[in-house]
Amino acid sequence: MKKLVTVKDLIKIYRAGAADFYALKKVSFYVLEGEFCVVLGPSGSGKSTLMNIIGGIDRASGGSVEIMNTQITALKDNALTEFRREHIGIVFQFYNLIPSLTIKENVEVAANIAKNPLDIDEVLDSVGILDQKNKFPSKLSGGQQQRVAIARAVVKNAKLLICDEPTGALDYENSIEVLKLLRNINKKYNTTVLLVTHNSEIAKMADRIMALKNGEIVKNQVNQNILQAHELEW
Ligand code: ADP
Repeated sequence: MKKLVTVKDLIKIYRAGAADFYALKKVSFYVLEGEFCVVLGPSGSGKSTLMNIIGGIDRASGGSVEIMNTQITALKDNALTEFRREHIGIVFQFYNLIPSLTIKENVEVAANIAKNPLDIDEVLDSVGILDQKNKFPSKLSGGQQQRVAIARAVVKNAKLLICDEPTGALDYENSIEVLKLLRNINKKYNTTVLLVTHNSEIAKMADRIMALKNGEIVKNQVNQNILQAHELEW
């Protein structure tokens, strides 16, 4: 299978007073096209920093990230923004929906700036909220709002879906529903998923499991016993 993401010797340095703090210390790995990949790590291990750089919303201090044969770490700001808009969907812990727009309009905003968007109603149907499309976000539960955020990330027909603690603000039941949905999206659209979490149970549903500790990859292996989302327990 083809590599969709290749991360090589990635370094992120935060300047903290007189000393430099290395949030990522020469991180290297790849993700294959269509893979569902989970990066595990405790709080402070560098997960968000890593996702933000791969997602094109932060800059590396060294090393490279190549996505679909484009070295995004070498792109100028405008080109990086354009690349992100076209190819990368990002889902955060908090849904960041626009409160004054309906569910459908929230997804439309993303579709409108994409080159080759998917059908909005079809995506809303895929995430199970088509019947809620004329409501405003505040009328939906957290789990439903996260579904909208996933629809918004998916509608632009992104090849790569980056999820930073997507179930971090949800209860168990809603978390399982969102994880099921992410796996379905991965299968239905062949979207490559890169999900970071501190919850080791979630890694059991991944095709590939990596672990990050103090800014370093300390584990990277193909999962030999993939569980379905509904089999996860915590
Ligand atoms: P995680 O997502 O795993 O919790 P982060 O990527 O948010 O970890 O942070 C990794 C490390 O980098 C932490 O020690 C954090 O304090 C530090 N860090 C993150 N962002 C900044 C910043 N803007 N300035 C200084 N240090 C930061």
